[in-house]
Formats: sequence, structure tokens, C-alpha cells
Amino acid sequence: MRIVLLGTSSAVPTLSRGLSSTALVREGDVFLFDCGEGTQLQLMRSTVKRSRIHSIFIGHLHGDHLYGICGLISTLHLDGRETPLNVFGPEGLRVFLNAAFRTSDMQFSFKLTVQEFPRGYRGRVLEEDEFYVDALPLDHSIFCLGWRFQEKPRAGIFDLDRAEELKIPRGPLYGKLQDGQSITLPDGRTITPDMVLGPPRPGKSVVYCLDTQFSQRSIELADHCTALIHETTFGSEDAALARDRKHSTMDDAARVAKEARAEILIATHFSSRYDGRDIAKMGDAAREVFENITVGRDLLEVEI
Ligand SMILES: [Zn+2]
Ligand SMILES: [Zn+2]
Repeated sequence: MRIVLLGTSSAVPTLSRGLSSTALVREGDVFLFDCGEGTQLQLMRSTVKRSRIHSIFIGHLHGDHLYGICGLISTLHLDGRETPLNVFGPEGLRVFLNAAFRTSDMQFSFKLTVQEFPRGYRGRVLEEDEFYVDALPLDHSIFCLGWRFQEKPRAGIFDLDRAEELKIPRGPLYGKLQDGQSITLPDGRTITPDMVLGPPRPGKSVVYCLDTQFSQRSIELADHCTALIHETTFGSEDAALARDRKHSTMDDAARVAKEARAEILIATHFSSRYDGRDIAKMGDAAREVFENITVGRDLLEVEI
């Protein structure tokens, strides 16, 4: 999977940072988390194909995470998109989208499905064969959902030596075992998948926590995740401001990553009061709490 940061500024854009949006690319499909103003331009500057957007997840309805969605959807219509599009977000999202699209007499070349979740919602929001997405409420000034994109475990690695020892004929029987089916050999022996497969390989997971103050819920959502994308609006010298506005400092995010035992923390959503050097320093200081921090910048790609 590939994570592409499209916008890393909080509240207002700066000349070098756009508003919140992050793409997760998995086997060509794009999952977009938040869609601040300017997201469609950032998509064009990035390696992410807007035609491959599978779903859009809007964590909360603050404008810096939301106001780009109407423009992006309008463009998808002008592209002649036919694939249905799913949008997930808190209650109120449908009213917002309907008002914009009705006012503009917007037509759709594709089916748009908006799925809303009531205040306090926690649970599964999307499930397919190879992955699922869970949500739970974070701790922000308005109802805000955090998301966990989780790949399902994959079958263990096929042990060729063991298969040869067991004298299983090469060919389609190997595939059946790999798919988890038992087989019967011509000599009457039954071979079960666990006889030739290693232990199941855990799937990777990406957790998205924007916007929130430090919260046990973020730790719960991020439990043992591969990558935690967490907001870091302020530096630790502005911790009082972070508390007051229900945002996090870089240290808060590092604590969440440490307590959740995340593999990597990707920091994003920086106040416009800081320049790149300030943010790099914030990252250096927070590495005393959690070592593996990637300090975000627009269009940065992280392979996991
Ligand atoms: Zn924000
Ligand atoms: Zn917010």
C-alpha cells in the first residue's frame, strides 16, 4: 500500500501546504481520507489517479477537511465517470452535498452513495473480500470519526519443499491448497492446507486520526497498526492552545503511536504559524517519545 499526503495544513492553506487530504492506494484503488479545498489540484500534481477513487471518507465536517469534495465530484462527472462512488462521513454530510449539488443543478454520470453515521457511531463501515474499514469517534470540537483501513490476513507462504516431501503432484492441486482447500491424492491420502502452508500473514493497517486531541480512542483505533496518520496541529510549546482547541501536539501524536505500538507515525495537519523548519524541529523533539516519525509534507509518499 502507498500513502500519499495531498494536503498537510490545518485550517488555512499556505503557499507550500494544502488543506487536509490523504490518499491510500491499494492495488490501484484509491481511498481518499478528507477532501479539503484544493484537493483535486493536489491529485493532479501527485501520482494518484482520480479515476481510481473507490471511496471518500470525511472524518468531520470542518471546512478545511470538506470543502474540496464538491469540486472533485463535479470533475469526476465531467470526466464521464461511470463507476459508482461511495462517500462516508458524519451526519450532516448529505445535507451539505445536496445543498451544493441542487443549487448548481448538478447532474451525475455515476451513482453517488452517501453513507452517514450518527454522533458517537463506532463500527464497521465498509467490508470487501480483502479488507475492511472501521470507524470510531475521536475527541474534537465537533463529532469526528477516525478510520482504520485493515487488510484481512493472507494465507501463509506455500512450502514447496514440504509439498515435494509429501509427493503432491505439481500443478492445480498446489493452487487448491493455497486457496485453503483440502485435497485427496490419487493414492488416497488427504492433504490439508496447514500441512504445506506457513502461518497466516497478518494484513497491513492504516489508521487516520484527524482532527482530535490526545485520546484513548485514538490509541484503541491504532492498536498495533502498520501506519498511524495523526494530526499534529501544534508544537509542544503551544500545548495549552492544542487543549483549548481540541487539537494535538506532535508529542501527543507520538504518545498515541507509542501506546498503540504503531510501526510508523506520519505527522500531518500543521498550523500555518509554523514553517517547514519549525515542523522538522517538532518532529525531532517528539522522536524522544516515539522514534519512527515521518514528518509529513505535501505530496510525500510513504510505502508500507
Ligand atoms: Zn482540521
Ligand atoms: Zn477540525
